[in-house]
Amino acid sequence: MTLQPIKKVWLDERVEKTALTRRLLDRLPGVPVELVAGLDPVKREFRFSPDPVGESKQHLFITEQKSFIRPCPCTPGSVGCGYWTIDLDLNCPFDCSYCILQQYLNWQPLTVAVNREKLRAELESFFQRQPGGIIRLGTGELADSLALDGLTENSVFLVEAFRGQDRFWLELKSKSDCIRPLLEIRPSDNVVLSWSLNPEAIIGAEEKGTASLGERLQAAAKVVRHGYRVGFHFDPILHYPGWHTDYERLVAEIFKVIPAEAITWVSLGSLRFPPALLPVARRRFPGSRIYEQEFIRSAEGKYRYPRPVRLLLYRELGEMLADYRAEDKIYLCMESVEVWREFLEKIKRGRRNFASPFPWQG
Ligand code: SF4
Repeated sequence: MTLQPIKKVWLDERVEKTALTRRLLDRLPGVPVELVAGLDPVKREFRFSPDPVGESKQHLFITEQKSFIRPCPCTPGSVGCGYWTIDLDLNCPFDCSYCILQQYLNWQPLTVAVNREKLRAELESFFQRQPGGIIRLGTGELADSLALDGLTENSVFLVEAFRGQDRFWLELKSKSDCIRPLLEIRPSDNVVLSWSLNPEAIIGAEEKGTASLGERLQAAAKVVRHGYRVGFHFDPILHYPGWHTDYERLVAEIFKVIPAEAITWVSLGSLRFPPALLPVARRRFPGSRIYEQEFIRSAEGKYRYPRPVRLLLYRELGEMLADYRAEDKIYLCMESVEVWREFLEKIKRGRRNFASPFPWQG
């Protein structure tokens, strides 16, 4: 994994004096710091850059958030999995050609919220308010959960905040291999560390700065040995000449180092994106070929592969995972009831739980 250096720290004057701000600044010696009253001057700095999105990934904004927890918006018409997101950090130092944040975050710099006590209070109230059943929450929606963890150690704060809350599962989702802080603390049974995976050729071509496949899997193997649960996300699955062989190899690589029993869930989601992402991604990644496949505009407005292609991808990945007895861990991310139904009909092999699409809700 290769993180680009932080060019400048922008310090929100409201949090100038907090202990966590001081700790963060101590870990960034030599990086210029400018005190600001809000985000406007930071974004103005990027305005004349030839690549404002890329530039935003090299600036760190230390600030506070008004609120942190919200239900995952999923996508209209899809089977939601009841996930909740925790927006502790915003933006990501990595640079994936398909990343929706390029368009969605509107030049937001790497943003770290230091008012963790507010988050702690929000979590405590959430734990008390939510009715029975397992509820999953995670920080990987608007950021990579671990990419900046060497700096923030957010993972340590979060694991401790969730410890003992057995009904509430924390997911930290990443494409990095930054696990040092997590190895320095006692694991917790309700914490799942998960990695998004793609074949090595895709990682090299489309996921700039991220850890290689081998590094991600080694990191996953280490946290399993330490006692954590793990999850994997095949998301976005890409359809291209040779995809089957590449994904078959990828699945085999996982099970060389991770036992199926250590895996809590595996999600499958094929490439999807809003039309507004296309011009941004094409300009920023002219060499990428992933947008040259056939797409349809789905009812909710996003581009997706045609349904037979999506089903083919899910079915084949499902069969590959079934070869390692991991079929019961699978769920589909942002897919319609119809696709779910067809998928479940096709992947019957060994699957115990047909009634609930989400095993952790059983
Ligand atoms: S790792 Fe995730 S959040 Fe970061 S650039 Fe890639 S897709 Fe976006």
